[in-house]
Amino acid sequence: MLDTASLIKLLAQPQKIVITTHHKPDGDAMGSSLGLYNYLIQQGHHVKVITPTDYPEFLFWLPGNGEVIIFTENEKESADLIAAADIIFCLDFNALNRINEMGELVGESNAVKVMIDHHLEPQDFDDYRYWDINACATAQLIYTFITEELKNKKLVNKDVATCLYTGIMTDSKSFSLPNTTSAVHRIIADLIDAGTVNWHIYDQVYNNSSENRLRFLGICLSEKLEVLHEFNTAIITATKEDLEKYEVITGDTEGIVNYALSITGIKLAAFIVERTDKVKLSLRSKGEFPANDICKKYFNGGGHRNAAGGASTGSLEQVVNQFKSILPEYKKLLIQ
Ligand code: 5GP
Ligand code: MN
Repeated sequence: MLDTASLIKLLAQPQKIVITTHHKPDGDAMGSSLGLYNYLIQQGHHVKVITPTDYPEFLFWLPGNGEVIIFTENEKESADLIAAADIIFCLDFNALNRINEMGELVGESNAVKVMIDHHLEPQDFDDYRYWDINACATAQLIYTFITEELKNKKLVNKDVATCLYTGIMTDSKSFSLPNTTSAVHRIIADLIDAGTVNWHIYDQVYNNSSENRLRFLGICLSEKLEVLHEFNTAIITATKEDLEKYEVITGDTEGIVNYALSITGIKLAAFIVERTDKVKLSLRSKGEFPANDICKKYFNGGGHRNAAGGASTGSLEQVVNQFKSILPEYKKLLIQ
């Protein structure tokens, strides 16, 4: 493991840097990656953000987005950049299977690997770790990494601040989760002081839906929602045909699970969707209920206690039935 002084020394000279984040990046993944990108380019480093897959269009306005390379669309260029990198920053994930095929390339690379993350149970592939499961977002950790570890608050300019604000806003469910502490609000105040325009970010992220997306949400709520009162659980399912009918694109399904969780008394919500190659589950829970436990144990996934995900190769019907069959095991926690 590298210590902070050695990392600072390394960063004192221009380096070839790759920043990467988990597949199907969300607001925190892109916000923390581009926040760090906009910080590092001010120091003369050669920096590339490489995402394992595509990501939602409502994040395309982020400063620096035009420079992002998507691995699945540029495999050769990405592999060359990873192989040549001096430093690889791994943000908002802590296991190499979260970056798909890129995992092997990053694992094999001789670069110094820096993990900055807030998920449970990190895998040992890194040389430097800045990790805190109490952080509400990786973007929060990027801010304290820059200001407290690298002691470079003056380089948190408007672009850095805008990206980090986006990460914190999206991962904290608009500052509504228990981990949105007073310290987080102080960081938010600093980011606004650095020039970011908070209402504009909200508008870009949340008031930016296509008509199709809203109609798809409509059928999810009116026709696809099942409430299992006995278990304080609500499920929304979507088939491949639903996705095709409403021309659902990456990002369109984000947040739908939260509507199921917003029903009074509901402790656990699931959005179960039939993708081309697998059935994907998004779970959200309230309070102490461990959504990540279900994902880890039964659906080859993981995440946080209140927000977790997983997948299965079974049919949609099989996965829904399996999910329902698991609930009795958790009944005590769900009805207390
Ligand atoms: P989402 O439901 O938005 O896909 O994911 C919710 C949370 O669970 C995110 O923090 C995400 O990083 C995590 N997550 C989603 N899918 C997986 C997975 O397959 N494995 C692990 N370890 N975490 C996941
Ligand atoms: Mn995150």
